[in-house]
Amino acid sequence: MISKILIANRGEIALRVLRACKELGIATVAVHSTADADAMHVRLADESVCIGPPPSRESYLNIHQIVAACEITGADAVHPGYGFLSENAKFADILDAHGITFIGPTADHIRIMGDKITAKKTAEALGIPVVPGSDGEVKPENAIEVARKIGFPVLIKATAGGGGRGMKVAKTEADLEEAVSTARAEALAAFGNDAVYMEKYLGKPRHIEVQVVGDGEGNAIHLGERDCSLQRRHQKVWEEANSPALNVEQRMAIGKVCADAMKKLKYRGAGTIEFLYENGEFYFIEMNTRLQVEHPITEAITGIDLVHEQIRVASGGGLSVTQEDITFQGHAIECRINAEDPRTFVPSPGTITHFHAPGGLGVRVDSGAYQGYRIPPYYDSLIGKLIVHGRTRVECMMRLRRVLDEFVIDGIKTTLPLFQDLISNQDIANGDYDIHWLENYLANTSA
Ligand code: ADP
Repeated sequence: MISKILIANRGEIALRVLRACKELGIATVAVHSTADADAMHVRLADESVCIGPPPSRESYLNIHQIVAACEITGADAVHPGYGFLSENAKFADILDAHGITFIGPTADHIRIMGDKITAKKTAEALGIPVVPGSDGEVKPENAIEVARKIGFPVLIKATAGGGGRGMKVAKTEADLEEAVSTARAEALAAFGNDAVYMEKYLGKPRHIEVQVVGDGEGNAIHLGERDCSLQRRHQKVWEEANSPALNVEQRMAIGKVCADAMKKLKYRGAGTIEFLYENGEFYFIEMNTRLQVEHPITEAITGIDLVHEQIRVASGGGLSVTQEDITFQGHAIECRINAEDPRTFVPSPGTITHFHAPGGLGVRVDSGAYQGYRIPPYYDSLIGKLIVHGRTRVECMMRLRRVLDEFVIDGIKTTLPLFQDLISNQDIANGDYDIHWLENYLANTSA
């Protein structure tokens, strides 16, 4: 049994995890940098430990300090949230060596999914459909041959990739040499590893991802999909569950493929299998072995608390539900509220002078922000998430419109006005968008 959880994160996700711990009667330890001493997760935790100065490398990414905080407070488990150390296999190994439970998958599963080529090969072996592409790494000398076999346009991707870096499109043979060499140079600079591989480039896909949870013993379930096609620079902005593009049969079919794969893998914990979806076909791109930012929309339509499930399986208590228990109720949308200029997306840290969160049926606000809170300039600009649920997509959209009018965050710039624009757009109303839609929209409205 787990009796005290150290939350190795900050911001809204630290608060989110803390809420689950409290509901389960588990004691909590917050860790924080000197810049976050006033943060809400620190105020609400049972105990807190300052683990270093503002830069993440010296605080939230500092494994020694976090392990020391566990030892000092007697925490017997760590929840890593998302980002920071959540997909760090070495961290999971170190906790294990100290007899501390890592609330997440095994270090081996983190490693497998952290390397893109290994992840893709593993997915394929588990029966998950993948993007057609090279069989492993591609060297410059055989790039032409591989690309001809796949068919143009092709995408060159870094094996160690992340955040869209080390990724280049070659539309024709003439572009190939340069695409390969720039992708390799970018990959080397960003990840210290210039290995690249090649995939068919899909022109107008949607980003659809499937939520899974496994108990590590061979039982696993899926909780349907999320559509995260509305992105800016590969960052998700607005997410929906269910996807406006899928019907029930497609949902249950891809969900079953993912759940079956996780059973075979004996996967433990929450995970997300990400796909590009085009012309009725799914193509695996990666698996995230952690809780995702957009998990609340899945919680809204299934009624299942994913952090409760993560803690249950980490403590050997198994899943609280079977696949047959899960039903999908209505529709949910999440808007990511960033402290950024809504047009230029330049970060806007500073003091929140007035804060009023909306309420009412079907409304959830996950945020550590409050009136008088000073947003530090050192971290990600996500300051909160607005999650709205309705019985139908139309009801959900009408509720979102009402809720956006109520939400007040003064003193800093936020991306709230962007959502007020999107909610009035006909393509959005129709659910008719792909992964390029938002970039095109922003380019065409920025005059
Ligand atoms: P990263 O880990 O760097 O974010 P991903 O493999 O998750 O890389 O891909 C990031 C994004 O790049 C996807 O969400 C999609 O927008 C685009 N992308 C990736 N693979 C392809 C592909 N084969 N065809 C078209 N776009 C792609």
